[in-house]
Amino acid sequence: MDFEFGQKEEKLRADVRAFARAELSGRHVVSGMEEESRDEDWEFTMQISKKLSQNGWLTMAWPKEYGGQDASHFEQHVYVDEASYWGIPGTTMGVSGIGWVGQSLMLFGSEEQRKKYIPSIAAGEPDGVWCTAYSEPNAGSDFAKLQTKAIKNGDEYILNGQKIWTSCAHRARWCWIAVRTDPGARKKQHGISLLILDMKSPGITIRPIVNYAGVHIFNELFFDNVKVPAVNLVGTENRGWYHLMQSLAFERHSIAPQFCGIARRTLEFIVKHTREIRYNGATLAHDPVVRHKLAERALEIDTLKMFGYEITWKMSKGIIPIYEAARNKAYCDFVMQRLAITGTEMIGAYSQVDMWSKWAKIMGNITRLYMMFPGIAIAGGTDEVQKNIVGQFKLGLPRAY
Ligand SMILES: Cc1cc2nc3c(=O)[nH]c(=O)nc-3n(C[C@H](O)[C@H](O)[C@H](O)COP(=O)(O)OP(=O)(O)OC[C@H]3O[C@@H](n4cnc5c(N)ncnc54)[C@H](O)[C@@H]3O)c2cc1C
Repeated sequence: MDFEFGQKEEKLRADVRAFARAELSGRHVVSGMEEESRDEDWEFTMQISKKLSQNGWLTMAWPKEYGGQDASHFEQHVYVDEASYWGIPGTTMGVSGIGWVGQSLMLFGSEEQRKKYIPSIAAGEPDGVWCTAYSEPNAGSDFAKLQTKAIKNGDEYILNGQKIWTSCAHRARWCWIAVRTDPGARKKQHGISLLILDMKSPGITIRPIVNYAGVHIFNELFFDNVKVPAVNLVGTENRGWYHLMQSLAFERHSIAPQFCGIARRTLEFIVKHTREIRYNGATLAHDPVVRHKLAERALEIDTLKMFGYEITWKMSKGIIPIYEAARNKAYCDFVMQRLAITGTEMIGAYSQVDMWSKWAKIMGNITRLYMMFPGIAIAGGTDEVQKNIVGQFKLGLPRAY
């Protein structure tokens, strides 16, 4: 296997780096995690989405007919890795526009849906911002238990129920929502469908949930007789569970390059810090315990990088990764946790300073990561759930559900 990228990929990396230096001017927003919280960050995020689209990067791996560049999986990998390294915001179009809505519509959406929804995502416009509503108060890991109902009535569905932890719902124009269309189905996986929900519909209440870092990422959603046109059904009615498996695979594939970029930069910040801090007449970087911890984190990040390359390589050969996306997510959770703890140990009491404070070290990144890593390990399917998938598909263990 050739581990070197070609000239095209290296030029892309240099161009993304130059873009980050010019556009971010030192500002560091951890992409995809808090960009939707404060109004000023959100406004900036949308400006950057537009520019990423104009540069041809935002949806570069999509076919040209859907506003992409037909870029290779490796080009896409390099772009995601480099954009994450610099903390470029606005790469996702809400939580899901780019990650799975566009790709799912291309795979099992209708022609009308593709024409209506994909162009605004690719153009980086506010109309292309999406949230995803799967989780409910009693349906998380076991989300086939979902209870939100959409009952067909003529040419529309009537939606009633509640969703929770819906990231970016307060900014999104559209929602990719999983609902129960056949409450009488005998198996819980049956009778589920996917709908496109207009977030401006009457009957939707959005209640913010602010997390312990003071960041408004997610929300509760309540539906009171919300009318959804029947043409907003995605794929086949009551076959949503099978469509969702495909969408979840899209969600997990890009995890390794994204978090690898964030982790690489964070480790560089930490290393720089250990070279600057002195005690007992030497820098922290001279301390053997510190050196070993940093080396361990570097090895873990390298491993995550290799896992990411493997998936990208398989996809470039048309091989469908089975358990690898779950492995990468589980390993990513581990890497981010260890990095956050090492970073905290290195900056000491400064890790306790508010991440927005002028006193925060490393632009608040260590505090931010420390606060975020438990959430990272839950979002998109918990660590335990990913390991169950690895157990089943890699080791042939019995199903966990
Ligand atoms: C930052 C963040 C963003 C999120 N964004 C969204 C979003 O945009 N849209 C959305 O729909 N949801 C979102 N979620 C919700 C997320 O998908 C759920 O929290 C997650 O699926 C877990 O569900 P739960 O919280 O109900 O926990 P539960 O499923 O109740 O799990 C509780 C604990 O039990 C463990 N567990 C459960 N089942 C098993 C099993 N079979 N084997 C072993 N252990 C098990 C879990 O791993 C966990 O540790 C987000 C969550 C976070 C933290």
